[in-house]
Amino acid sequence: MNITGMSVAVIGAGTMGIGIAQVAAAAGHQVKLFDIALPAAAHALELLGQRLRQRVEAGKADAHSTEALLGNIQLANSLNELANSGLVIEAVAEQLAIKQSLFRDLEAICSPSALFASNTSSLSITAIASALQHPQRMAGLHFFNPAPLMKLVEIVSGLETSATTLAALQALAQHWGKHSVHCRSTPGFIVNRVARPFYGETLRALEEQVADPATLDSVLRDAGGFAMGPLQLTDLIGQDINYAVTESVYHAFYQDGRYTPSLLQQELVAAGHLGRKSGRGFYRYGSDHPAPPPTFAAKESGELPRSITLHGDWSAMAEFAQLLAGNAGAIKHPGQTSPEAHIDDVTFMLTNGQAASQIAADIGAPVVLFDLSVNYQHAPVIAISSAVQNSAPQTAKVIRLLQSLGKRVIHLPDYPGLLVMRTVAMLSNEALDVVNKGVANAADTDNALRFGVNYPQGPLAWGEKLGWPHILATLENLQRYYAEPRYRPMPLLRCYAANYSGAKC
Ligand code: NAD
Repeated sequence: MNITGMSVAVIGAGTMGIGIAQVAAAAGHQVKLFDIALPAAAHALELLGQRLRQRVEAGKADAHSTEALLGNIQLANSLNELANSGLVIEAVAEQLAIKQSLFRDLEAICSPSALFASNTSSLSITAIASALQHPQRMAGLHFFNPAPLMKLVEIVSGLETSATTLAALQALAQHWGKHSVHCRSTPGFIVNRVARPFYGETLRALEEQVADPATLDSVLRDAGGFAMGPLQLTDLIGQDINYAVTESVYHAFYQDGRYTPSLLQQELVAAGHLGRKSGRGFYRYGSDHPAPPPTFAAKESGELPRSITLHGDWSAMAEFAQLLAGNAGAIKHPGQTSPEAHIDDVTFMLTNGQAASQIAADIGAPVVLFDLSVNYQHAPVIAISSAVQNSAPQTAKVIRLLQSLGKRVIHLPDYPGLLVMRTVAMLSNEALDVVNKGVANAADTDNALRFGVNYPQGPLAWGEKLGWPHILATLENLQRYYAEPRYRPMPLLRCYAANYSGAKC
């Protein structure tokens, strides 16, 4: 199949269609753009031209290649004009009946060798393809918004999709400079399913009044290493869009509690507080509303602790051990027990899904817990919680120590699993379920999250680095705490945790 010379048709000239047309045209394909609303397609193409030429005027793009790109896109006045297309990509309204009827019409018009792709976010590829006489020629080609900028494309197989169709779409995605991942047609594909807890855990913390939005976002962003906090990001995506995706995944999985939508987010949608596009969501937008600072920043000016000793296996957080002790060689009994630091009389450890007060009651000593960070050395923020049994000076000297290491300290209430740890535990648990059920392989699952939503690490790589036993313990403790199936560990997590020495599951 001649991939590079293939003529491409894009149907639907809305947000996604015009972006996909731009991607294909930039790679040198002749592109036909069709929309049921002909003037809308002409307008979309005109706006694209204006936008790209402005980039040329600003010195950000080359005039010759810009004109070549625009010259590659032609408007089509009817579906019949798409007869010679080698690939038809559909990006029309998200309704099964509309998409099925469109592909039925196209099958009568296009050559039997033409490939069909749908950009659907939530419909079953198998169901769309069932309208075709030759469903083998059809797959999902799920771009992310904005299509020209986002690196990821999910290539989705329906039950009947052929290996030839898949291989052709994979080669095309590569030719377009995209990173493609392959998955089976299941609700949310990879990204929209595995990413649910990123929003869900912070929305829950907000509902449980753990902290204000700016603080919660700061922990995920400035300690966790995510490009944006979840609430900030939902304001950007649109509360209505983000809520609709969660609801769709929730119902598609027969109301599985892992995906339960947030009533608080539902209220925002009901009020029309949709985020940036309406001027107000979790935050207010506009020049008279500067971004609020996190309000939980702790400041201590007292004494530094007299002694710090590290115990157990700090290999997953070696850079933090080094920061705390000045040199990792000072660790006592390395590799034998879970990592913990003794800061004078205070036990300082990574949250494992139990409340600090619970641990303090169990061990009979003051406890400060810290949250997970993508990189303890470089992250500007560290989030902690403390046991209610601690005296104020006991907690204060730990905060003082962390500040002396150059960290802004966010002192959260005693929330089990804090924020980053419970989020990453849930993300990696979900990713393991995707792998276990053969929806996608491990590498594609991690890459989908890295390239589709810019996570600092793939959830599987993150879980592996931290150690599956700690992920399992965190979820089991959260499940006990809430008594909800939401936090139940997936079978592959139990297997990985039990086989941590490297045996295969
Ligand atoms: P949109 O509403 O911006 O555009 C849809 C376009 O399709 C409109 O211009 C409409 O006139 C046209 N259309 C509707 N029915 C048609 C038909 N029968 N024939 C030809 N044209 C028709 O929608 P969008 O946001 O671009 O989404 C399009 C598809 O892409 C949906 O399936 C959506 O789920 C999916 N998607 C959207 C996003 C996103 O962030 N917007 C991301 C990934 C995938």
